[in-house]
Amino acid sequence: MRIFAIGRNYAEHIQELNNENLGEPVIFMKPDTALLKDNEPFFYPDFSKDIHFEVEILLKISKEGKYIQEKFAPNYYDEIGIGIDFTARDLQQKAKEKGLPWLLAKGFNGSAPISDFLPKDRFPDLGNIHFSLAVDGEIRQKGNTSLMLFKFDYIISYLSTFFTLKKGDIIFTGTPKGVGAIQKGNILNAYIEDQKMLTCEIK
Ligand code: MG
Repeated sequence: MRIFAIGRNYAEHIQELNNENLGEPVIFMKPDTALLKDNEPFFYPDFSKDIHFEVEILLKISKEGKYIQEKFAPNYYDEIGIGIDFTARDLQQKAKEKGLPWLLAKGFNGSAPISDFLPKDRFPDLGNIHFSLAVDGEIRQKGNTSLMLFKFDYIISYLSTFFTLKKGDIIFTGTPKGVGAIQKGNILNAYIEDQKMLTCEIK
């Protein structure tokens, strides 16, 4: 399986980081060693002093495909989850300034805690899913898939133009506004609607 991720998919998050809306999604990947499953803790690494949380809705690919037309995209993903795209903002800032790739800032060990997945049929409207992230019990990020600049079907179609998507691949679909730094001792909880889906302790 691979982990694909979309950057700059919510206008207010683009603004909070003073990024440019390029009119196309920013695409990056994380290696499978980034995954944290079953509410495993995250161990804060020494190479960064400014790791941020970014809560994101996840798609899981159910069928291999490439050059997928948007209208057929729903046939290629069947489950929805939630994850955190941990980002070493200090390393990312350096990379941005030099025009270098984001791999070190985004792909380090444990940078992708993910929840269990829910069948997408459980959602009456995939274009209106509310999700949120709490740090130590305080809601810090609130998002809704209605605010995505690039919707699920477009993301599937766009990615599949460059990469053959394979069953089991996971896509991080971008973060809403409200990103912030984590500290050792924080407890992060991620919710889809009112359902707690994911817990991650920072150690
Ligand atoms: Mg992100």
